[in-house]
Amino acid sequence: MTKIGVLGLQGAVREHVQSIKVSGAEAIVIKKKEQLDEIDGLVLPGGESTTMRRLIDQYDFFTPLQQFGKQGKPIFGTCAGLILLAKEIVGQKQSHLGLMDIKIERNGFGRQRESFEAKLTITGVADDFEAVFIRAPYIEEVGKHVETLAFNQGKCVAAREGNYLCSAFHPELTRDHRLMQYFINMVEESKKHLAS
Ligand code: GLN
Repeated sequence: MTKIGVLGLQGAVREHVQSIKVSGAEAIVIKKKEQLDEIDGLVLPGGESTTMRRLIDQYDFFTPLQQFGKQGKPIFGTCAGLILLAKEIVGQKQSHLGLMDIKIERNGFGRQRESFEAKLTITGVADDFEAVFIRAPYIEEVGKHVETLAFNQGKCVAAREGNYLCSAFHPELTRDHRLMQYFINMVEESKKHLAS
């Protein structure tokens, strides 16, 4: 069975575990860097990116996470997880893992409007996806190898670059698991490639 990890340092971990299971893969909460060797793909959940980064450093996850991605294993970053994946963050000198060639704006839809829902078309996934946004970032610029997958209010809110997938919204908070299924397909494809 395909094994998908969820980085379990902070944030919406349990909801992703549930979504992975419902989508037919095995879910593992990752609390130690050694566990990364056991999994085929990884979800970086939503939460608070600065807090998550602090815990990533504290538990010595930084380099192992970068290596995981650079090996070609798929990573799906949702909301704060997207912020962790980005190469550039508007207004900040430093990014975090810097694995995806995207420039992002934190709290891009305004801090006041804490959360909202919107129906999205996601290329290759759905044309009626109810997406939950919570203090969400958006993607301001993408590199030439990045495929934009969804827009809200003219802003890019989901993208893919090779083995990396990200969404500014929280797909784990509804019963619509189609984006997670899309990610699991990515992981299954990469498993075949990495094995051959
Ligand atoms: N605004 C948060 C951050 O900057 C992300 C919010 C979320 O993950 N729901 O980390």
